[in-house]
Amino acid sequence: MDMARNVPVTTGMAALETMAAELFDQIAAVSADGVGVSRPSYGDGETDAMGVLEAFAAEHGVSCRSDRAANAIFDLGTEDPDSYILVGSHMDSVPHGGNYDGLAGVIAGLLLLVDCRKNGLDPHLPVRVIALRGEESAWFGRACVGSRALAGELGPEDLKAPHRSTGRSLEACMKAVGADTAAIRRQELLLDFTKVRMFLEVHIEQGPVLVERGLPLAVVTGIRGNVRHRRIRCTGESGHSGTVPRWLRRDAVFAVSDLIMRLDEHWQTIQQHGGDLVVTVGMLHTDAEHDAMSRVPGEAEFSFEARSESDATLDAMASLLRSECEALEQARKVSFSFDPAIRSAPARCDSVVVDGLRAACRDVGFEDEAVASGAGHDASIFSNAGVPTGMIFVRNEYGSHNPREAMALDDFMAGYAVLRRFVQGCR
Ligand SMILES: [Zn+2]
Repeated sequence: MDMARNVPVTTGMAALETMAAELFDQIAAVSADGVGVSRPSYGDGETDAMGVLEAFAAEHGVSCRSDRAANAIFDLGTEDPDSYILVGSHMDSVPHGGNYDGLAGVIAGLLLLVDCRKNGLDPHLPVRVIALRGEESAWFGRACVGSRALAGELGPEDLKAPHRSTGRSLEACMKAVGADTAAIRRQELLLDFTKVRMFLEVHIEQGPVLVERGLPLAVVTGIRGNVRHRRIRCTGESGHSGTVPRWLRRDAVFAVSDLIMRLDEHWQTIQQHGGDLVVTVGMLHTDAEHDAMSRVPGEAEFSFEARSESDATLDAMASLLRSECEALEQARKVSFSFDPAIRSAPARCDSVVVDGLRAACRDVGFEDEAVASGAGHDASIFSNAGVPTGMIFVRNEYGSHNPREAMALDDFMAGYAVLRRFVQGCR
């Protein structure tokens, strides 16, 4: 190992870049779905991808084990340290997703461990890497399942959530890959968060900002929380489109459209007053089997999502949704029924960590751009559990959650260089 300390950093970095490229390729291959990649939360593609990392770890003298939520933990075999840096991200993807979302952060963490083994990188604090399962809400309607389970934040209701296509419960899928679902159901704390000195997540940017600004990376200041309903049903009365006059109509589609326009007005008002908010109705449909061009739709279903950096704004939108629905029940003679709201709290990144990461950017020769994250991440679970948290965004074209997502390896290595520099200076 002493010999390895003399290897120039650039030589080491080139070898690490090759390893990263190979890992990205191998994992894309095991999770390819013909369109993009599919790594279902607590499912096969995710497990296969973790298998590739496990083999890589074994090959490079890095130890690997599962935690009680079936996430993978990698380290250099250090015995339970009192204080350590945790680096990681998630292994799952959305259906037909891109290869870099989540995976980039896990690979960046693994490179740190290999860097310690092969190139004499010797940070003051031990480093652990976590490959989290179940971050994407696309599969069970629950986001950050792997990290929430560690924090004792998954309840019996969450565990009942059905898989989007198989209908199998989250609990059954978690159990099948070895998670301690009894402890999770009891909401036990499965990780000693007091020992996690900080949590660091490298992640591709999922919006267009870095591409537009021509920057390879940025440091994240905070993460928007959200309030969501997967399914809200509006019930009116179906009828013949030619014979039911306006005054007798109970048209579910007109009611839902009216609702959306009212919510849009509230959104504009909140934004004009300086509030941070984005609102989306991502799914909206009538009964395709029975409805027709010439039929007044008696039923419509839709999803609702509001995201904000402010808890108060999320509260406001959640209650405006209810009050506008009540008003429309009177005005349009329909009724609304709601599935339970799913809430995820906004998270701040730790200011000391943010400043340290920005200094690391300058040290390795990049601009120290700071941005807010519009998407949710496991980092917010750690932050809300009291762990000082920081994130690095890496430039990525064509957005995310689609097969076209594109991260240049150079940009990834720039993100890695900042992570490495920061970890090296941590005490
Ligand atoms: Zn992600």
